[in-house]
Amino acid sequence: MSHVKPVRWVGCLLVALLLLLTVASSATAHGPDPIFSGRWNQNQDLRYAWRSGAVPPSAYQGPINAAAADVNASRGSQAATFAYSSGASNLVGYGTGATCGTLGLACFTRNPTSSFTVWMREQGHRFDWGSLRWCQAYSSWPDGCYDVENVILDEFGHVEILTHHSNLSGESDYLDAVVQELSRTKPKAGYNAHGLGRCDVAALQVQYDMPGWGAKYSTCLSLATTLTLAGSPTAVSKGASTTLTATLKVADVASYSRLALNPVALRTVVLQRRPSGATTWTTVGTMSNGPTSGTYTQTLSLTARTDFRAVFATPSGEGLLGSTSPSVTVSVGS
Ligand SMILES: [Zn+2]
Repeated sequence: MSHVKPVRWVGCLLVALLLLLTVASSATAHGPDPIFSGRWNQNQDLRYAWRSGAVPPSAYQGPINAAAADVNASRGSQAATFAYSSGASNLVGYGTGATCGTLGLACFTRNPTSSFTVWMREQGHRFDWGSLRWCQAYSSWPDGCYDVENVILDEFGHVEILTHHSNLSGESDYLDAVVQELSRTKPKAGYNAHGLGRCDVAALQVQYDMPGWGAKYSTCLSLATTLTLAGSPTAVSKGASTTLTATLKVADVASYSRLALNPVALRTVVLQRRPSGATTWTTVGTMSNGPTSGTYTQTLSLTARTDFRAVFATPSGEGLLGSTSPSVTVSVGS
């Protein structure tokens, strides 16, 4: 057995920074991945080619390109995309020339918004714990091998902006991220994860924003929302109608970065009413999607002065918290 576990190393220049981040993030176990400084442009099209003299064997090229596609398919945000393109200036290399730290299976450099590199160690590389085995080097994958696609997915996640996920003790949340300090080998759970985990995606959403206002927020987030309600008009004659318009947004919190004040569209917002001044609310129904993103409307006729409020219940399946609007009163004349 090894006494030192292999890690995916991030390069000499980043070691000190990484140690600081690891210590700092351990106090906030289980949340979005910590990040490096420096973002790419939103949806930046990052192309890479094989490094001359260090071209990955063909058995690894497919899994590397698959890792790029995995990022694109699972980013859940406007994070940069990756694609192989012959002649591209960002280089992916393989072999004994890898400039990884002593323990690294693979490594990267990043210099947004201009360039990045990725290296992977050669099959059979001698670590002090034993020899590196890439699963794709075998027609039948042996236990103890590392999946190229999974390891390169981790590297692309670093290139985006992510540092290693801070796991709970016992690592019960290991599968919430593929950007992990400790790679897993076959057959440990997660060794062949081929999509970013929800806490990888959460950090990318915070840094790069959502792909659309109806898109779901990662369940690794827990974002407060704000809900407001307005009536138009706020005074009607008896039997005439008024239109209530609710506006749902992500709360304005600095740590939410690009997500703060986002319109939250295509959700379920319920309108409630009561005779003005009464204590008990009655549900009118689910409001319709309004004319602009994140607005919800309902029109109804009134025969007496009425209070209204809108309610957004905490949804299951995404990382938003519910909210209730202040009440508004619509008066009715004779
Ligand atoms: Zn890593």
